[in-house]
Parts: sequence; structure tokens; C-alpha cells
Amino acid sequence: MSNQRIYLSSPHMSGHEQKYIKEAFDQNWIAPLGPNVNAFEDTLADYCAVKHVAALSAGTAALHLALILLGVKTGDEVMVSTFTFSASVNPIVYQGAKPVFIDSELDTWNMDPNLLEQALKERREKGWVLPKAIIVVHLYGMPAKMDEIMAVANQYEIPVIEDAAEALGSKYKGKPLGSIGDMSILSFNGNKIITTSGGGALLSNDKEVIKKARFLATQARDQAPHYQHSEIGYNYRMSNVLAGVGRGQMEVIDDRVKARRDIFEFYKANLSKYDGIKFLEEPDGNYFSNRWLTTILIDEDKLGVSREKIQEELEKVNIETRPLWKPMHLQPVFDQYESYLNGVSEKLFKCGLCLPSGSNMDNTIKMSIVAFLARCINSEQLV
Ligand SMILES: *Cc1c(COP(=O)(O)O)cnc(C)c1O
Repeated sequence: MSNQRIYLSSPHMSGHEQKYIKEAFDQNWIAPLGPNVNAFEDTLADYCAVKHVAALSAGTAALHLALILLGVKTGDEVMVSTFTFSASVNPIVYQGAKPVFIDSELDTWNMDPNLLEQALKERREKGWVLPKAIIVVHLYGMPAKMDEIMAVANQYEIPVIEDAAEALGSKYKGKPLGSIGDMSILSFNGNKIITTSGGGALLSNDKEVIKKARFLATQARDQAPHYQHSEIGYNYRMSNVLAGVGRGQMEVIDDRVKARRDIFEFYKANLSKYDGIKFLEEPDGNYFSNRWLTTILIDEDKLGVSREKIQEELEKVNIETRPLWKPMHLQPVFDQYESYLNGVSEKLFKCGLCLPSGSNMDNTIKMSIVAFLARCINSEQLV
């Protein structure tokens, strides 16, 4: 088994994808529009309980368009979770705007609503222009504290973009993530819970917003017999071939969520006995995570083995693990920007590890991962 690498999260086809791809070929819809794109958008809208969806070339493209549609321009500020992947932040800089990073709270690891409020209050008291938008990330599938965040955002009248790239299938108070903010984005990159190899989507209940997103995503062509442009456009639409993959994937999304949640439970059942290993729990019944990746926190003193050692030992047997996201305020490319910190994301980054969580791992694979982990921990504890 050690020659077949076990990834954190690898693509898991349903078997129905090729039927939709074949349709695209049969009808010669090999273009960034067509029946698969329309059907994929409708399925997503239905599943996420939003009225309108634009399928796009990437989650990053979706976030870029969201910021453009909210009028984010040079010199503006956008508040964003610091504990995230860089793609949550890059589009802010594409617009010439400035990210302001907000740290996490310990219950969900996502944006701390109190810190968000403190940041906004401080800036208002100084008489500064308030941020144009807030990007809240649902990391690893865990819903952020949306009621609290929306309450603060509404108080200051700032629109909220949900970065649900890792959270398709997660719910907050029974509502699908992506349906709560003013706009939301999804990703279908190869490592996400479902994939189109690469792709993303912008979600909104506002018909005009999605109409404008489609317009901008197809080079902003004005209504005219010739090619005429009065705005800068982008080439951000999803291919009809890839949307066929997405249709096949959406047929099994609930199975995929269940499989990922089962993997979390499996790890918990087998590793909770170690004092030095902690899991991220759903705070209460209002939070339903798709468990995109199972993550653990390692207390080296209690466990007797470091995170680095575990990662190294598993790598030797071709099992991929990875530290949690390195906070954006610590990234060389972003460290000149302002941040509101409480130490949480840095602490998580220091001791957290992502475990293989792909829905295509069978029982033998899961057991072998746990066995290797146990061997690594036990042998160190004997020393
Ligand atoms: C994957 C991801 C994105 C970007 O999505 P792409 O489709 O890869 O562009 C954005 N935010 C988060 C939190 C992600 O994990």
C-alpha cells in the first residue's frame, strides 16, 4: 500500500460525469456556455437554497467578481478572515484594495464576531471610511458564527460575502452555507468536496447581480451588432464540458458529505483516547459541517510526539498530511496590511494537522492511516 499515495482529498467521480460530457460532445457544446452549465447552475441554486448562480472558471474568479459587483476599488478596505487560504484574499489585491485581517474564535476557528465588531467600532471612532465588504470564510467546512457576524455587518451596513469554497453541503441553523450572506462563492477545484477539475460559482438571491456577473465573466460585451465594450470584462465562465463533470458530482453530493462526516467520526473514535489529540467539534446543533477535511490539534507535551514528527513519519509511508492554513497576516505577501489579532489562528497553525479525508478512501485505507498514526505515537511514547 505504501506505493499508492494517500492524499488529503482527491477527486472522487460518481461515474455519471462522462454521460454529461458525452452529451456536450454529441451536441457540440464545447464552449463556456450550454445545457450542462445551465443545469449545473440550477442544481446548485436548488441545493444551496439561493435564487441565482453563475458557474465560473474558479472560486477565485467568483470572489473577484463579487468584489467588483460590490464596487470595491483602489484604496478601499475589505475585512477578511486571516485564517484561510490565500485565494480568499488575492482578489482584494487584484482590485487595488487593502485587506484588513480578522482573527478566529476557538469554537469554529472562523472569524471572531467580537473582534470584527471591535475593528469596525475602532475605525468608525477614528472617523475612517468603513470597509466596502466583509469576506467570511467557512474553513474546513465548519460554519462561521453567522448570526453574530451578520448582526455586526448589518449594524455597520457592510455587505457580507461568504467564502464557502470548502463548505458545500454544510449548514448553519438548517440553512445551507452560501445562502446567508449577500453573495457567496463556491469552489470545485480538484481537492474540494466535489470537483469539476477546476471551477467555481457565484451565488446570490439578486437576479441583477448574477446577470451582471455573467456579463462581466464573458468579456463585458454590450448589446450591439458588433463587439462593443463600455466596461472591462473577464473571461471567467465555466466550460460546458466541465459543467458536465459538475452535474455528475452533484448527483452524489449528499453521499460525499456523509462519507466525509463518517471519516471524521472514524478518526475521533480511534484517536480520542490520546490525551494530546483534540478534534474540532460542532459547537451545537446549529452547526453542521461537511467535514471537508478532518483536522486535529496536537499537544506535543501530552502526546510525546510533535506534529512535525507525525507528518514526517506518515510521509515516509506515502500518506499526505498538512499543517492547518498559515494565517494570512503571517504571509510575506500580506504582512504589510492591518490585522486585528487575538492569538487564536497562530496557535492553531502551530499545532494543527489535516488528515487524509477523501470520500474515496475505503476501510482498509482508513485503518492503515490510524494504525500508522498509533505506531508513530506509541513508539515515541516508549522512548
Ligand atoms: C479553494 C479555495 C478558494 C479558491 O477556489 P479556487 O476554485 O481554487 O479558485 C477560495 N477560498 C478558500 C477558503 C478555498 O479553500
